[in-house]
Amino acid sequence: MIADKALVVFSGGQDSTTCLFWAKQHFAEVQTLTFAYGQKHQQETSVARRIAELAGVSFTLLDAPLIGGLGRNSLTDTSITMDAEQPADGTPPNTFVPGRNLFFLSIAAVIARERGIRHLITGVSHTDYSGYPDCRDTFIRSLNATLNLAMDEQFVIHTPLMELDKAQTWALADSLGVFDLVRTQTLTCYNGIVGDGCGHCPACKLRQHGLQQYLAQKQQTANAQ
Ligand code: ZN
Repeated sequence: MIADKALVVFSGGQDSTTCLFWAKQHFAEVQTLTFAYGQKHQQETSVARRIAELAGVSFTLLDAPLIGGLGRNSLTDTSITMDAEQPADGTPPNTFVPGRNLFFLSIAAVIARERGIRHLITGVSHTDYSGYPDCRDTFIRSLNATLNLAMDEQFVIHTPLMELDKAQTWALADSLGVFDLVRTQTLTCYNGIVGDGCGHCPACKLRQHGLQQYLAQKQQTANAQ
């Protein structure tokens, strides 16, 4: 436990919710910051608010429609059909919102500075959806250095999920005692269905695959004992 405050960039999805409870275990005080950036499913923000309440942490919602409206992507533009996986040419899938993590973390740092917070937490992971360039560790380290230079601060960006795949993220939630909460209360589905979701969008498939993998591993361990 670090006797310090932390700010979690929080969407109410599986990853950032797991990070929120990870943060609660590691920091004396945890706050959350959620962005409304024009995502198709506005209930994402009410889901985030409810989870923050359940976790007993403060919740701040920032209205930032600009970030979703700058480029064309299938998370904010209803006329675009979502890529189910990364295109074969190696470009990011159209669910990629360019600049999103750069923007989120930069604004989070400004707010953290205002509140005397040094620790920033984000649920990015490079293992699963590596089509997103702003989920890579090099980007996070580079941005951390830039933010420190930009504001003459000593921010530390924590990425507890960076090396974890989805099955390991479920395992982490379980070890933090919030497996059921993450499974039933979070919103990962691109079609806006809380919990196990629609089952067929790319986010649901990734989440389900990880969940099944984790549950199978858990069963195996139980059988071996
Ligand atoms: Zn879905």
